[in-house]
Amino acid sequence: MKVGILGGGQLGRMLLQSAANYPVETFVMENDANCPSAHLCHHFVQGNIRDFDSVYHFGKNLDALTIEIEAVNVEALEKLESEGVKVFPNSAAIKIIKNKILQKQFYSAYKIPSPEYIVTQNVSQLNEHLSFLPAVHKIGMGGYDGRGVQLLRKSEDFSKGFDAPSVLEKMVDIKKEIALMVAMNEKGETTIYPSAEMLFDPVLNLLDFQISPADLPEQTLWKAEAIALRVVKELKSAGIFAVEMFVDQNNEVWVNETAPRVHNSGHHTIEGNYCSQFDMLWRVILGYPLGNTDPILPSAIVNVLGAENFSGKAVYKGLKDVLKIDNVFVHLYGKQDTKPGRKMGHVTILSNERQELIHQAMKIKKLLTVESENANG
Ligand code: ADP
Repeated sequence: MKVGILGGGQLGRMLLQSAANYPVETFVMENDANCPSAHLCHHFVQGNIRDFDSVYHFGKNLDALTIEIEAVNVEALEKLESEGVKVFPNSAAIKIIKNKILQKQFYSAYKIPSPEYIVTQNVSQLNEHLSFLPAVHKIGMGGYDGRGVQLLRKSEDFSKGFDAPSVLEKMVDIKKEIALMVAMNEKGETTIYPSAEMLFDPVLNLLDFQISPADLPEQTLWKAEAIALRVVKELKSAGIFAVEMFVDQNNEVWVNETAPRVHNSGHHTIEGNYCSQFDMLWRVILGYPLGNTDPILPSAIVNVLGAENFSGKAVYKGLKDVLKIDNVFVHLYGKQDTKPGRKMGHVTILSNERQELIHQAMKIKKLLTVESENANG
């Protein structure tokens, strides 16, 4: 089969690493000819994944397409689908998820628990909703990695809001942020991975480290699993999905958002589970049986982020020391240049002991840094 990936970042790169084990010819489209995926696919096409003609021409001679980012031209995918190209996830699912307003309306329509919300069209409308605070303002289109999200606690924060169609969502008193990966094949069969628990860096608002399985009461996990499966079944699309959820102080579970693709919260499955999220997506696309999601060992992931004050050609400090540690797996994404907070790689740690996972994660965060030859300024 000829399969195309829209987007050429690290998700595409790891998907291509898995593709090497399957009978598949791979194509990648991305603007940057030096992107992390460019040198691992069979055919690289330089092009804009948001542009109708580029996506349509890229896809028209392929058997199937998948995405590594939602910001793709959905109209082109709709046309390709109508001409028999399979798209994982399908264009209808991407359309819902791509726009936070439609995504929230989808959860309401299917009675999937997600924080209460109001749709706002511009920043001045926020003034009408003082009684809704504390809340979180989320831009409808185009936000990612925390950049389309503002916490609004009091009216003075309204100026931080988005002057574009957005969602104003009730702030949840979060105990834990978790994510569950679900795969669904074309027959509608599903499989679910053990939960992952996220810990965030409050400054960069980026994932700090993550542990799987999440430490939660069994009944909360069951609830989360049932909700994640519902989300994917109601989206009615084959593919792989990360359902991100909040567990509040009362152990209630709320869907934050869904990513219709391989996801950062599933990177540990490469070494931590029998079938990785990347392997699983190929099984779905190529029509093979779903894989085994069981964990081999509990795992943690540390994101390797560009250090503050360094920009330019990346230099990895401490790599040798990290590579000396047993049951630790380093993944560098092959990005030439670093900048503060840029996702440059991740490290997976396996251990039976949760304390050991936390200990090693903290240690690795300090040991492995990404700098450049010259510090800024
Ligand atoms: P992105 O898609 O940019 O990652 P998210 O919607 O996941 O944005 O929001 C980023 C972070 O903001 C979340 O991980 C969470 O910590 C916080 N957040 C988002 N929505 C809420 C909410 N309703 N209540 C409390 N915190 C929230």
